[in-house]
Amino acid sequence: MNLHEYQAKELLASYGVPIQRGVVVENLNDIETAFAKLKEETGTSWCVVKAQIHAGGRGKGGGVKLAKNMDELKMHAGNILGMMLKTPQTPGGMDGEGKLVRKILITEDVYYPDADGNMDVNEFYYSILMDRERKCNVIVYSTEGGMDIEKVAEETPHLVHKEYIHPHLGLQAYQTRNIAHNLGLTGAAFKAMTKFVATTYNAFIGADASLVEINPCLKTSDNKIVAADSKASLDENALFRHPDLAALRDVHEEDPAEVEAKEHGLSFIKLDGNVGCMVNGAGLAMSTMDIIKLCGGEPANFLDVGGTADAKRVETAFRIILKDENVKAILINIFGGIVRCDRVAQGVVDAYQNIGDINVPIIVRLQGTNAEIAKKLIDDSGLDVHSAVTLQEAADKVTELVG
Ligand code: GDP
Ligand code: MN
Repeated sequence: MNLHEYQAKELLASYGVPIQRGVVVENLNDIETAFAKLKEETGTSWCVVKAQIHAGGRGKGGGVKLAKNMDELKMHAGNILGMMLKTPQTPGGMDGEGKLVRKILITEDVYYPDADGNMDVNEFYYSILMDRERKCNVIVYSTEGGMDIEKVAEETPHLVHKEYIHPHLGLQAYQTRNIAHNLGLTGAAFKAMTKFVATTYNAFIGADASLVEINPCLKTSDNKIVAADSKASLDENALFRHPDLAALRDVHEEDPAEVEAKEHGLSFIKLDGNVGCMVNGAGLAMSTMDIIKLCGGEPANFLDVGGTADAKRVETAFRIILKDENVKAILINIFGGIVRCDRVAQGVVDAYQNIGDINVPIIVRLQGTNAEIAKKLIDDSGLDVHSAVTLQEAADKVTELVG
């Protein structure tokens, strides 16, 4: 589950990480009070208006603007709040339709000059995630932070550093110093960086996060290290341990089909291919996707209807899969261990008739209890439903049908 910038910053701050402070606004009428509050808390005279959507690259799409006075603040807030913000990371990229901005964060300006009037800031890239190959957490960081880290990683990979964290020993003090050193810091900034690393790592572990990304991580002119942006993804399977964090879910940011599936207790993940999959059991779902790929096809989703694949669930699953316009065929692969195949087959036939306008072919492979009766039910239904016996046969047929 992804968090908004303002939520991720609050999480980090609760672990003692210094952040660029801000106030969230949902209504333009609240701008003046929000800024007054921010000014009182931080002493900032300028501020930054930042669109809160689950996508990076907001700066590039006009979703981050500096305001030097109340008129500018109102203008930027008015433009950004309610806009359809396009960034390289919103669906369809800069040519897509963008994402509706429902909230903005008004933050203090942390790019201020030092006492002598010199601007002496550094933008670092900093993130914590899991390295699956090494089977441990890794801190990835670079002196080349700001808005183009993807380009840095591609063109000058030697400027991206990594610090691997031993799973049993945890983050070591020498590693925090290593990072501060490689970022070219000295004195107060060096010390602040070691603390920044330790506290962000505590936050990552404490929240069961799968990603914490801070870009830019800013060295200010007065040698503080602050999170000027932040993105966090939390491990959904650990959310039960964090009811406070689970409550931060923003359903507006999630795929409507995934939200609907969750409401019905179905495990559903949307993918980019064109073969809709309906399967019982996560293991079977994985192998179904594998074999579709091996036959040259691309799965459009992962959908596990669970142990009780009754008619009602099959129908809901159908409706969810069919919402995806990319779906050109549906492969139903059910193993009848506890569930009876004939019941599932009847469910498929009923659902097909209830929904009415299904115009993609459906391939059904039912194996296990009462499989023969099930096959006969499908074959006799007269619908555009093909039955297959082996998984190979089903996958071949479906890839043939989608061309
Ligand atoms: P992103 O584009 O979605 O990654 O949004 P960021 O939060 O990283 O902001 C984009 C850019 O806005 C940063 O790279 C900075 O250049 C700029 N920015 C962010 N905070 C401040 C600030 O406090 N003052 C100024 N002057 N610029 C800022
Ligand atoms: Mn950023």
